[in-house]
Amino acid sequence: MIVVMKPGASQRQIDHIIERVEQLGLRSHVIVGTERTVVAALGEKRDGAKQALETGEGVEKVVPILAPYKMASTEVKQERTQVTVRGLKVGDNHVGIIAGPCSVESREQILEIAQFVKDAGATGLRGGAFKPRTSPYSFQGMKEKGLELLAEARAATGLAIVTEVMAPEHVPMVAAYADVLQVGARNMQNYPLLEAVGESGLPILLKRGPAATIDEFLLAAEYVLKTGNSQVMLCERGIRTFEDHTRFTLPLATVPYLHQTTHLPVVVDPSHGTGKASLVATMARAAIAAGADGLIVEVHPDPEKALSDGFQALTPHAFREMMQECRKVAAALGLEI
Ligand code: PEP
Ligand code: MN
Repeated sequence: MIVVMKPGASQRQIDHIIERVEQLGLRSHVIVGTERTVVAALGEKRDGAKQALETGEGVEKVVPILAPYKMASTEVKQERTQVTVRGLKVGDNHVGIIAGPCSVESREQILEIAQFVKDAGATGLRGGAFKPRTSPYSFQGMKEKGLELLAEARAATGLAIVTEVMAPEHVPMVAAYADVLQVGARNMQNYPLLEAVGESGLPILLKRGPAATIDEFLLAAEYVLKTGNSQVMLCERGIRTFEDHTRFTLPLATVPYLHQTTHLPVVVDPSHGTGKASLVATMARAAIAAGADGLIVEVHPDPEKALSDGFQALTPHAFREMMQECRKVAAALGLEI
């Protein structure tokens, strides 16, 4: 339920409602808006709770939250959430560009590509140090050494570091180096991991599981939000369908649909979404046209030699061209990039 306070309700009245919510065995979550404050009462349905809260002083109305996800829902918060860290701004009229290699492979590789993507207009640097690979025989990432190199690339460029964390026990280590923790598609429903990344307090990039529905995706985000961490970006990275001309199928209708259902910013990954370098720039443009708040794109100094996902990585030159195209689309829509 949402307890909508009257405009100008006093702090004492709000505190009283929070206390009542908690006495009812529900969890309170306060959202201070520009006009009025709302107190979300979260938990299992309780008989009589609505009536009990409605009579509170300063309360305008109590309305049920219809969506299964609560804190992620536009029913609870209408104002759009913007995620900001260093120069990276995602959402609320800013299209944030996160670019870099699939994996951190060497000092030269990450420093070179970081400077390049920065010069081309990216404000976030991606690069996996812990890699979730389909085969246990594939390159698994440089682990902590890779994180150190990412931190060095940040010191050199100022880019915000976006990197994946695969296990709850790795969260403190990855959080010590990263600016944004990425939860990979394979881990979207790893609930202990979602709680652990939420508790780190860092912004989260949550990737959609390739077989997850949008409700499941938003409920995964809800696990992070429930820890009190509101800096969550949702990332559409393609789903598994019968189609095999692309690695995954990239459904761009996810973007406007999520904008109707949640206030969280939506990032599109055209690299994993298509699995083909030749399709990435066009889908990046299309994502911005569909309203994406950010892009995460794989770029490698020499894709042929990449240790992972080289077939979908843009060359530096192709990335620069993609950025020029994306800027035109963003400008046409009045967005900053
Ligand atoms: C990645 O970003 O390199 C990655 C492994 O992505 P996903 O989790 O979407 O497969
Ligand atoms: Mn990859």
